[in-house]
Amino acid sequence: MTELTERLAAGLFHPMGVDGVYARTGLYEGVVERLAALISEYRPAAAEVFRFPPVMSRADLEKSGYLNSFPNLLGCVCSLHGSEADIRAAVQRHYAGGSWTTSLAPADLVLSPAACYPIYPIAASRGPAPRGGLVFDVACDCFRREPSQMLDRLQSFRMREYVCIGEPNDVVAFRTYWIERGQQIAQRLGLPAKVETASDPFFGREGQMKAVAQFQQALKFELLVPIYGTDRPTACMSFNYHRDHFGTTWNFQDHAGAPVHTGCAAFGMDRLAVAMFATHGLDIASWPASVRDALKM
Ligand code: ATP
Ligand code: ZN
Ligand code: MG
Repeated sequence: MTELTERLAAGLFHPMGVDGVYARTGLYEGVVERLAALISEYRPAAAEVFRFPPVMSRADLEKSGYLNSFPNLLGCVCSLHGSEADIRAAVQRHYAGGSWTTSLAPADLVLSPAACYPIYPIAASRGPAPRGGLVFDVACDCFRREPSQMLDRLQSFRMREYVCIGEPNDVVAFRTYWIERGQQIAQRLGLPAKVETASDPFFGREGQMKAVAQFQQALKFELLVPIYGTDRPTACMSFNYHRDHFGTTWNFQDHAGAPVHTGCAAFGMDRLAVAMFATHGLDIASWPASVRDALKM
């Protein structure tokens, strides 16, 4: 563990025996709540709010193409199926020193890897997107199988997103707007942030080509804050343009009959909170007045 991790972890987290999974203190959660309220202040008037559970339909995520891109990060819910005798046998193996887990079978659920996946089939089920497009405010607890001892890379973390669904123009304007707002929010929070084009860590050798294409087409931007030093700043927000990927996947059209384009502005709530404490220290009373003002703390 680095010195920063140790110092921050002592005030903010309690370990739970697995890397990247923490019990969060009241001090930390207070800031997460105030950050969420600050982001809500920027909610577009037309936005429709959904809060999703930490699990979603496995079939829907499979259909979204997640397995093509990040199969290594996905967590799937498994449970003991079968007769009472089958289940009892599995449990008895555990108490006999063996493993009950060999009897697990996948359920129809995965752990949501991002907050926006469930909104596309919901929105598509209502028919074509209207002129001017749709905006949603979504959030959920997310899981990604990327265990780490760094406090900016958790396996279980909170994500908040504003999502735009409409014509290409709607989504491009939405993203430009949120890149601007994201920087404004970071400035109010006293975070030394910069925005850069980025790419996702697509799985495998083919994935590297996808990442290059994504980068070249400037489909992803990240708002980066130095938590563990300026040489490897941490992405605390991301601004993504998926083009017609979800429109085609969900047979979802705009008012003119073309597949909808989609984009999202994602706020990593835990990364933002960790960045606040890494930047301003553990004593909130000594944070700059303008920052406490922005958070109403
Ligand atoms: P990174 O490049 O650091 O892995 P990412 O590109 O995977 O980030 P996104 O997929 O864009 O991130 O997710 C949206 C936001 O969720 C990120 O900007 C970040 O703030 C947050 N996030 C992503 N992965 C994690 C994680 N493992 N722990 C905490 N927050 C995360
Ligand atoms: Zn998203
Ligand atoms: Mg990642």
